[in-house]
Amino acid sequence: MFDVCIIGAGGIVGCAIVRELAQQGFSVAGIEKHETACQETSGLNSRVVHSGFHEIFGTLKSALACEGSGLLIRYAEERSIRLLRTGMLIAIPHGSIRAGLWKEADALWRLWRQGRRQNIPFRFVLTPDGIRRLAPIQALGGIYIPSVCVIDLEQFVSSLEADAIAAGAQFLYNSEVTGIAAEASTFRVITSSGELRSRILVNSAGLHAHEISVMAGGPKYEIEFIRGDYYELAGGVKRWNVRTLVYPATPPRSPTKGIHFGPRTDGRLFLGPSASPKTETAPKELFLEAGRKFISSIRESDLEWAYAGIRPKRVSVDGRSDFTIGLDRTIPPLINLIGIDSPGLSASMAIARYVGQMVQKIP
Ligand SMILES: Cc1cc2nc3c(=O)[nH]c(=O)nc-3n(C[C@H](O)[C@H](O)[C@H](O)COP(=O)(O)OP(=O)(O)OC[C@H]3O[C@@H](n4cnc5c(N)ncnc54)[C@H](O)[C@@H]3O)c2cc1C
Repeated sequence: MFDVCIIGAGGIVGCAIVRELAQQGFSVAGIEKHETACQETSGLNSRVVHSGFHEIFGTLKSALACEGSGLLIRYAEERSIRLLRTGMLIAIPHGSIRAGLWKEADALWRLWRQGRRQNIPFRFVLTPDGIRRLAPIQALGGIYIPSVCVIDLEQFVSSLEADAIAAGAQFLYNSEVTGIAAEASTFRVITSSGELRSRILVNSAGLHAHEISVMAGGPKYEIEFIRGDYYELAGGVKRWNVRTLVYPATPPRSPTKGIHFGPRTDGRLFLGPSASPKTETAPKELFLEAGRKFISSIRESDLEWAYAGIRPKRVSVDGRSDFTIGLDRTIPPLINLIGIDSPGLSASMAIARYVGQMVQKIP
């Protein structure tokens, strides 16, 4: 019998929640179907600690990304977790002159307006020379956000898990939740490795959270799944000398932030992610084109497919996609986390706090 059971403890968000609640003094069980952490979305992303600049002001995503990125960076510094201080350059490529410049400039202007409302420090880069001082790319100008960085994901998650265990949490790996019964004031959670009881249930099951909600007697959510492929650039950061995250300018309501150059803490360099339906792999030409916009010397043979991750997105009627985090039933209490797509990694520690505050209020 536990105070709280978290389903999806192998994901970054689930793991951060287990830590938060254990540190608040609750008895906590973190359930995960895989053998180790980060086997699904949490291990298949860009590893960027976003500032919230791309998010729509007033959304939960924007608030939690702003708060969460600050918490995460401070935590990483305290624990000596590897952080690559890349900054983020959102740039307008040279080639856009031919296309009339209008689309990119408009997208950049909208992003600027949005970022400014969120008080995120940034600066304009107004000349190709200014751009080249940040990255060896061909671009006319852009916006540079210095606080954005790239994290060593594995170190981050194992540190969160160690904190949680030190605070008394139990992680149950290799335990797939196959059934949930609400019995009077508790949940009986049936897994592939046994059963447990819990007073409160937190559903942080990522791509499967909508299914777990129904299993636990919660609402039915409609989810859109967007696949993102990545290609690796041969020779990595050493060869291409791209040490800054380089993003195209995409309009604020686009489903993704666009295919970007992503240096990693291990010296590798990736192009991605694309945005396609769950079962479709994006064609290589798309990545070649996205890369050549900024570095024309990239050849097809420089790119090799690396991996793909899937974003669970909740799209509301007006096209805005926000995180949905709420107490969806009260007796016994069920907290659902639905549509935790990007920037869920960046927001993870703030999401955990947010859920912690909800749990504190449950009588
Ligand atoms: C292509 C891509 C790029 C991204 N880039 C970034 C980025 O640069 N920065 C950023 O901040 N965010 C990024 N994100 C978003 C980020 O990766 C996610 O928001 C985050 O990983 C979500 O974590 P999670 O713990 O909610 O979900 P998950 O990592 O999906 O974890 C859920 C866990 O639940 C477990 N589970 C599911 N069903 C069951 C069950 N029945 N029983 C037991 N366990 C179960 C799964 O095995 C899984 O381990 C990106 C996402 C994608 C797909």
